[in-house]
Amino acid sequence: MYTLFWFRRDFRLEDNTALHYALQEQHPVLPIFIFDRHILDKLEDRHDARVNFIHQRIAQLKQTLETQYQSSIRVEIGTPLEVFKKLVTEIPIASVFTNRDYEPYALERDKAVDDFLKTQNIGFYTFKDHVIFEKKEITTDAGEPYKVFTPYSRKWKESLKQLSLQPLPMKHTQWAKVNPFPMPSLEEIGFSASQITLPPSDLPLSIVKKYHTHRDFPALRGTTRLGIHLRFGTVSIRQMVAQARLLNEIWLNELIWREFYIMILANFPQVVNEAFKPAYNHIPWRNDATEFQKWCEGHTGYPIVDAGMRELNATGFMHNRVRMIVASFLTKHLLIDWRWGEAYFAQKLLDFELASNNGGWQWAAGTGTDAQPYFRVFNPQSQTEKFDKQLEYIKKWVPELGTSRYPKPMVDHKMARERAIKTYKEALENT
Ligand code: FAD
Repeated sequence: MYTLFWFRRDFRLEDNTALHYALQEQHPVLPIFIFDRHILDKLEDRHDARVNFIHQRIAQLKQTLETQYQSSIRVEIGTPLEVFKKLVTEIPIASVFTNRDYEPYALERDKAVDDFLKTQNIGFYTFKDHVIFEKKEITTDAGEPYKVFTPYSRKWKESLKQLSLQPLPMKHTQWAKVNPFPMPSLEEIGFSASQITLPPSDLPLSIVKKYHTHRDFPALRGTTRLGIHLRFGTVSIRQMVAQARLLNEIWLNELIWREFYIMILANFPQVVNEAFKPAYNHIPWRNDATEFQKWCEGHTGYPIVDAGMRELNATGFMHNRVRMIVASFLTKHLLIDWRWGEAYFAQKLLDFELASNNGGWQWAAGTGTDAQPYFRVFNPQSQTEKFDKQLEYIKKWVPELGTSRYPKPMVDHKMARERAIKTYKEALENT
């Protein structure tokens, strides 16, 4: 009999909660990974860098298991329920261990797998690993989820004091001894190599130490670029929080924003399709497809917006300050539905995380929890003066600035600002 360990967004062998518990079971641990057709089939880009990342990481983990523990990873392609239906006919399984994932699709998937495993008398055990606190662990005194960040973060920090963040011990002697399983190629799962460089997973200590002074300037390398690693669990959130606590409280706050949005999505899953504040569901978006295209390509005539979009298209990353500016520009200057922007970011961002992306977009559009007020419209020019005064970031991505090849602003700032405020105001008054 085997204890199955199912990797999902926890690609590491150390300080991994479900794996820690699986390795304490009586039966040896056989790890599996599923390239999930439900997810892969929705991706538009066959060179998707995230799929490349997952493929690389699973191959690395598999190799480590093969060379150090004479174990391996059984890698499957299909939909999870189908895969489990097949696995139970091929392997004697005592139980399945995995870490919890809070996205609506993942909850549905896990329920279907759990229901099926129950029919086979196989236990399905899930653990908290992706966050420090789950959706009901930090609540108001009345037991309600917080809707505003600052009191949430205060309670979060208070509760953290009671936790040990020591790495969990891992009983590596419990791995199942098996011959190496085959590793499907990227092509076999329907993808090919990406040109995008993937950021390393080491915590850049010098960046964290200077985070509070450097983080807002996109020309500096002032943020950690750990987003993709937190997304896929190549680093442990507990170890990041332990470091943040020692090194820089401002960086710790960002990790709490991540949990805040995961908590919001878990408690209010309707935010995936709707405004968090229902009154904002009635804004008459202009949704001009040609204007949207210019925004996507970085040809708006607003240099800071264009720089951001071009950085995103070329690298899969965009600086947080610039994400806020381009999102404000799309939703307010162009009055294009935040869901269009959110979907574009979801395709392109290496660090795409449904909860943070949705939270970031709803914040910028003014529709979200604890959001930017609707009448606050970022002025791209003054944002540039504050955060890229020497135009270093802009010139890197918009080298033709100042030549006749650079387009004129696609919309006048003053007109667009007034139009946005009027449109929001009228929509809110009519609800
Ligand atoms: P650092 O600045 O070094 O921060 C460390 C980590 O903290 C990040 O990797 C991330 O996990 C978390 N974090 C930091 N800021 C935020 C924040 N405001 N909200 C939630 N988590 C945060 N972040 C994502 O991880 N995925 C997304 O899909 C995403 N989409 C966004 C969309 C918009 C419109 C906006 C305004 C922000 C979005 N963010 C998203 C938040 C933020 O921009 C990124 O987390 C950050 O830029 C990633 O850079 P970094 O890894 O260098 O993070």
